[in-house]
Amino acid sequence: MDNCIFCKIIDGSIPSKTIYEDEVVKVFLDINPLAAGHTLIIPKKHFKDFDDIDLETLNHIMKVAKDIKLRIEERLNPSGIRLLQNNGVLQDVKHFHLHLIPTYNKDMDLNVDKVFEILK
Ligand code: 5GP
Ligand code: ZN
Repeated sequence: MDNCIFCKIIDGSIPSKTIYEDEVVKVFLDINPLAAGHTLIIPKKHFKDFDDIDLETLNHIMKVAKDIKLRIEERLNPSGIRLLQNNGVLQDVKHFHLHLIPTYNKDMDLNVDKVFEILK
C-alpha cells in the first residue's frame, strides 16, 4: 500500500528495530514507547484492522505474540504485559498491528537502543 508507514517498514524503506521476523510477520520496537520493551507485531501483507485481517494471519500473530511476550518477560522482567489492538478513531496507523506493552514495578529508564540490544 502506497503511503502506509508500516508497509514501508516491511519493504525496508523506513528503518525499524526489528527483533523477529518470518514470512508472515515483522516484530519491532515502537518508536514512541509507552514503556521499555513496547513492541509491535505486524503482518507483512497490508490489512487495515481487526475486521480486515484473516483468521489464519491473526492466529499466526497470536502465536508469535506468545513467544515475544515470553522473551520480554525473561529479558526485561516486567510485572505485567498488556496486549492492545486499536480500531477506528483509536487507530493511528491504518495497517493492523498488535501492541505488547510491558509495565514495571520499579523505574525502567532504558532508551530504545538499550532495549533493542536486550531484546534482539
Ligand atoms: P495505534 O494508535 O495506531 O494503535 O499505534 C500506532 C503506533 O505506531 C504508536 O504507538 C506509534 O508510536 C507507532 N509508530 C508510528 N510510526 C512509527 C514508525 O515509523 N516506527 C515505529 N517503530 N513505530 C511507529
Ligand atoms: Zn500497510
